[in-house]
Amino acid sequence: MFNTDTEFHTGADLAVALLQTAQQLQQAGLNKGTSGNVSVRNATGFLITPSGVPVDALSATTMVQMGLDGIAETDKKPSSEWRFHRDILQQRPEVNAVVHTHSMFATTLACSHREIPAFHYMIAVAGGANIRCAPYALFGSQALSDAAIEALKARKACLLANHGVIALGKDLAEALSIAIEVENLAEQYWRALQLGTPYILSEVEMQAVFAQFKGYGSWADPLEI
Ligand code: 13P
Ligand code: ZN
Repeated sequence: MFNTDTEFHTGADLAVALLQTAQQLQQAGLNKGTSGNVSVRNATGFLITPSGVPVDALSATTMVQMGLDGIAETDKKPSSEWRFHRDILQQRPEVNAVVHTHSMFATTLACSHREIPAFHYMIAVAGGANIRCAPYALFGSQALSDAAIEALKARKACLLANHGVIALGKDLAEALSIAIEVENLAEQYWRALQLGTPYILSEVEMQAVFAQFKGYGSWADPLEI
């Protein structure tokens, strides 16, 4: 849907795409009020949603330009989570978009410091056989960014204890899709837990899923990162 290739998209286009992603997160019920934030890589660093602004009050011109050095190029206030957006974009060259949500079921699991195991084969969309939960750290802190980077190793998503979710993509569309799928998986896992102990797919079963997943639908190869 969106392409972050700056050869084809101007800064203004990217700001509109960023706005639309924030709006879609709200429409999908993944974020409410001022919860969550989104960023997208561009030629001079990245564009990120501003801090503390409800989605309905956002416009393309309110998006904040930042360099990978963490310096905002305008007098606007970037998301309080600019550190993990910056660190991910700096350390993961294959990632061009970062979505952060407080979506209901994923956050519920994160409040119990639970990772999501391979209870369903679609866990593969996040890049491996589990979606880890990063230990608790204060929102907006460098400690939270460090914990997220660790939990995101070889993954496109992680939970943040007592907080929410981070989803990554090669573009905004993929990061949004992964955020939606993580919430779907979290709800299914939460429901399966109500019935007892869900069956967890074995390593052999998950290897077969990764092989089957290659080239499936619009998902990128889950083993590529
Ligand atoms: P911002 O409004 O500063 O982006 O904060 C929202 C949030 O989710 C903090 O973790
Ligand atoms: Zn948050």
